Amino acid sequence: MQKNNISTITRNALCTACGACAGICPSDAIKMITNTAGYLVASVNGDLCNNCGKCLEICPSNPENLPSIETGDPFHGVCIAGYVGYARDNTLRQISQSGGIVTALLCYLLDQNKIDGAIVNNFSQEERRPQAVFVSTKPELIEACGSYYAQSSVVKTILENSDKRLAAVVLGCQAESLKLIREKYPKINLPKLTIGLICAGQYSRKMIDDLIEKSSCNHERILKFRFRDKAVGWPGDVHIVSSEKDCWISKQNRLRLKPVYELHRCIACYDQMNIFCDIVCGDPWGISNKQQPEGHTVVIARTEAGKKLLENAIRDGAIVLEELSTKDIFTGQTVDGRHKTKFYTSRDIFQENNWLFPFPKDWFDNITYTPANRRTHHELDKRLEYSRDLYLTRDREDYFRKTNLKKKQLMGNLIKNLFNRVLYYTKTKK
Ligand SMILES: Cc1cc2nc3c(=O)[nH]c(=O)nc-3n(C[C@H](O)[C@H](O)[C@H](O)COP(=O)(O)OP(=O)(O)OC[C@H]3O[C@@H](n4cnc5c(N)ncnc54)[C@H](O)[C@@H]3O)c2cc1C
Ligand code: SF4
Ligand code: SF4
Ligand code: SF4
Repeated sequence: MQKNNISTITRNALCTACGACAGICPSDAIKMITNTAGYLVASVNGDLCNNCGKCLEICPSNPENLPSIETGDPFHGVCIAGYVGYARDNTLRQISQSGGIVTALLCYLLDQNKIDGAIVNNFSQEERRPQAVFVSTKPELIEACGSYYAQSSVVKTILENSDKRLAAVVLGCQAESLKLIREKYPKINLPKLTIGLICAGQYSRKMIDDLIEKSSCNHERILKFRFRDKAVGWPGDVHIVSSEKDCWISKQNRLRLKPVYELHRCIACYDQMNIFCDIVCGDPWGISNKQQPEGHTVVIARTEAGKKLLENAIRDGAIVLEELSTKDIFTGQTVDGRHKTKFYTSRDIFQENNWLFPFPKDWFDNITYTPANRRTHHELDKRLEYSRDLYLTRDREDYFRKTNLKKKQLMGNLIKNLFNRVLYYTKTKK
C-alpha cells in the first residue's frame, strides 16, 4: 500500500531538508540522510510509519499546504519598514556575511535576556558540513557568523529545542514549515522571533568537497570553511583553513560551480524574500552606495515584533540602521523581473513534464510578470532537468559521469563566451 507520507515529496526531488517532518513524526520514522548526489533528504522507514500523515501536513513542498498569508502578494509579503545598516561592534561586522545585523540582533536578544539561545548554523569539522545548532553564548553566535549555501535541518533542530526560549535564523522554506507547524500544532513552543535570510537557493553538500579539493587541502583536517569571507572585502571569497594552510578561492570560481550543484526545488521557489519571518536580512545588491568592502545588511521588518526589536536595538546602540525604501530592496534583488520570470517559467516547465509542483497554483494567479523568451525557457528547462536527474541519481559512477559532463559543458560555454567577447571586441575596434 502506498503510504500517506513525505516519500512523495522526496521521490519528486522536492525536499529542501528543512527537517520539519523528522521533528514532528510521532513514530521516529524519518531520518535526514545524505543521498548519492550529496543532497540532504528526509528518508522514511516504512516499517515504522503508521500512516498518520503528520509529516505531509507541515511540509513546505506539499502543494496542498496553504499557510495563511496576510497579503495577496507572495513575492513581496508584508513589509512594515525597510532599512540598511550594520552591527555597531566592528569585530562582529568584520567577520559577518554582510553587515552583521543578524548576529548583532541575536547577541542583543541574549543580552536583554529575551532568549535562552538561538538556532544558527556552524561548520562541523568532523563531517565537513554546515549543521544547525543551538547556541547560548555570544562567542558561539559570533563563531556562527556567515552564510552556508549548503543544506542543514534547521526546523528539526528547532523542534528538538522547543523547551527553550529561542530565536532562529531561517530560510524561506524553513519559515514556511514553522508557520504550518504553528497553525496545526499551536501548543508546540516555537521561536519567539525568526530572522529570515533572503534566499536565492541552496546547493548540494558535495559543493563543499569540490571546493576543498580545489584548495588542495583535501587530506588535511579542515578547521574552518567559509563560502564568503569578507576579509578580502564584501562580497568575499571562499576561505578554507586546514591544519596545514590557509587557502582562498575566488568568488568567480565558486559561482562557476553553482549550476553543477543547485537544488531542483530552489530553482522553482517563489520565496526568495522570506515572507513568513519577523525580520528578513540580505546583501545590499543593487544599493549602489552601500556596496562597500566592510559590508552592509538590507533589512525588512515584516511584523510589529520584528520592527520593535530593530528600534530597540538601534536605541541601545547594538546596530546602526537608516531607512531604505523596500521598493529599492526588491529592485536590487531583481524580484519583479528575473525572479518572477524564473518562477513562472519553472511552473510551466513542471506542468509540461507532469512533475509535482510544490505550491498551490492559485497563489500565483493574477500577478503581473514578464514571460520568458525562448532562450530563457530553454535554459531553465535544461537546468531543471539536470538538477532533478542529479538529485534522483542512485549510482556513484552515474553521479560522477553527470557532474563531470556538466563541468565540461560549462567550461565549453565559458570558452565560447570568452571567444565571442574577443570576436565582438575585435569587430568594434575595426
Ligand atoms: C542559502 C542562502 C542563500 C542566500 N541568498 C541570498 C540572496 O540571494 N540575496 C541576498 O541578498 N542574500 C542572500 N543570503 C543572505 C546573505 O548571505 C546574508 O546571510 C545576509 O545578508 C545576512 O548578513 P549578516 O551579515 O547580517 O548575517 P551574519 O551576522 O553573518 O549572520 C548570518 C546568520 O545566518 C546563519 N546561517 C548561515 N547559513 C544558514 C543557513 N543555510 N540556514 C540558516 N541559517 C544560516 C548563521 O549561522 C548566522 O547566524 C543567502 C543566505 C543563505 C544562507
Ligand atoms: S521539505 Fe522538510 S518537511 Fe518536506 S520532506 Fe523535506 S525535510 Fe521533510
Ligand atoms: S505518516 Fe506519520 S508516522 Fe509516517 S512518517 Fe509521516 S509522520 Fe511519521
Ligand atoms: S530557494 Fe526557497 S526552497 Fe531553496 S533554500 Fe531558499 S527558501 Fe528554501
